[in-house]
Amino acid sequence: MSGRLPPSKEPRSAPRSASNIEGSLVYALDIGGSSVKSCLVHVKGDQVAILERYGSARLPSRQFSDVEQIVVQAVGQVLSATPTLSAVGISTTGSVDSSGIVVSAGHFQGYVNVSWNKLLRRDFPRLERVVAVNDGRASTWAEYCANISKISSHIHAVVGTGVGGGIVYKGDLMQGDSGQAGYIGHIKITLDQTALCSCGKMGCVETLASGPAIVRHFNADPSGPNDDYATAFDTVCELARKGDMTARAAFSRAGYFLGMGLGNAMNVLNPSQVTVGGGVILASESIDTLGDGGPYLRSVADGIQAAAHKRVAAAATLRQSVHGNDGGMVGAALLAAQ
Ligand SMILES: [Zn+2]
Repeated sequence: MSGRLPPSKEPRSAPRSASNIEGSLVYALDIGGSSVKSCLVHVKGDQVAILERYGSARLPSRQFSDVEQIVVQAVGQVLSATPTLSAVGISTTGSVDSSGIVVSAGHFQGYVNVSWNKLLRRDFPRLERVVAVNDGRASTWAEYCANISKISSHIHAVVGTGVGGGIVYKGDLMQGDSGQAGYIGHIKITLDQTALCSCGKMGCVETLASGPAIVRHFNADPSGPNDDYATAFDTVCELARKGDMTARAAFSRAGYFLGMGLGNAMNVLNPSQVTVGGGVILASESIDTLGDGGPYLRSVADGIQAAAHKRVAAAATLRQSVHGNDGGMVGAALLAAQ
């Protein structure tokens, strides 16, 4: 729905008052390319529970002023309704530096050098903590915390229109010296000509493993229906569900390329866990009923075996994300509660 957050709620699943629960309340928002969604989260250590979900607000334009207006209004409403709330976590599209400043977000005009911490704490002095983090990193932290007792190093990939993600190394969410660490999607895996990547180069994982890449693989397959080109990801997905082997092969091919990129990153980091999430994985999971992430995720495992050293591959487990589309909000909430 369009309009201003938070327009709708689901019933509470846990008490809201801090007086009768331990841990922290965090209002978590996810700023995507076309909408803003949010929820109220209870965080206790590495445990999270979503108490309320608010409706998704569709952004009316690509102007940052619209993003700001929706976020500020939503935070104000939720603060008014939740007397014990003092923390906000924001998962956002774009490049975010290690101090939490959104350096730039290509989707939006004016979303440059924005400090949500300054902006929201100026308007709402009651807020004690405001954390902003890139959405790929936020979901990485959420997936890491879901299994924190068993791992210390972890790589997460988010596959949708692009390929994002992040890295946790020995318990730290890696930022890099300029806040740019973890660009799994821009690891180069071929010298061949590919589609132009969002980074302006060719040969990146993103050009061969994303949702649009699956459509390209389908259209380029000589055994495919040459006079009936698919034009949309949903079309290929629907064909795959119906058993079309060319469509299923397109998912597998893209997954294999993601695995190659992950395998290369694993050779550097030697993680004990690798997770994959995002809309493409949810679509792949819907293709068959085996419950193992579908043809895409199965081929990620093959790509890892092809690229990673055998001892590196043997030391890591691969699984689908557990938080699905909530990963960004959950991760931002966990980071804001720290
Ligand atoms: Zn790239």
